[in-house]
Amino acid sequence: MSYLKEIFTVVADLPGGQILQGATDVVFNWSRRSSLWPMTFGLACCAIEMMAAAASRYDIDRFGAGLYRPSPRQSDLMIVAGTVTKKMAPLVKRLYEQMPEPRYVISMGNCANTGGIYKYDSYSVLLGVDKIVPVDVYIPGCPPRPESLLYGLIKLQEKIDTEKFDKVFY
Ligand code: SF4
Repeated sequence: MSYLKEIFTVVADLPGGQILQGATDVVFNWSRRSSLWPMTFGLACCAIEMMAAAASRYDIDRFGAGLYRPSPRQSDLMIVAGTVTKKMAPLVKRLYEQMPEPRYVISMGNCANTGGIYKYDSYSVLLGVDKIVPVDVYIPGCPPRPESLLYGLIKLQEKIDTEKFDKVFY
């Protein structure tokens, strides 16, 4: 992608170049926010709600995020749905690192956010998935309903809308 950076550097210095950059940001952000590909994996009970969000009643595909991928290399969205145990944490981190940039993370449910019901009395649960991967959106609840996941997805799309193309890659 370095050639793109060079093109953008040249374009930015031309008359009207900043306007062209802004228009490119809009197009790239629109395409990214409209075609999020979540990774197919779930860790505990919250994953059932995630599955419900993908089924016909809630239809996550309406937001362009219905194409669950079987490989992290084809995914740009990790929905951490469920309890992250300390044994599982290195594997979650590895999956995240195998995803191509730009990549996004939604932490779904109290367990993934903070350890949830295991926060004060467990030796085996990670107290928040943000200890191992950067989280873009947190969804509270135990479990959050499918509507909550859809709301979180909309919030992520709003965040993607504000991204600057030249900052995402470099
Ligand atoms: S937040 Fe509640 S529903 Fe979700 S994984 Fe934890 S215990 Fe299960």
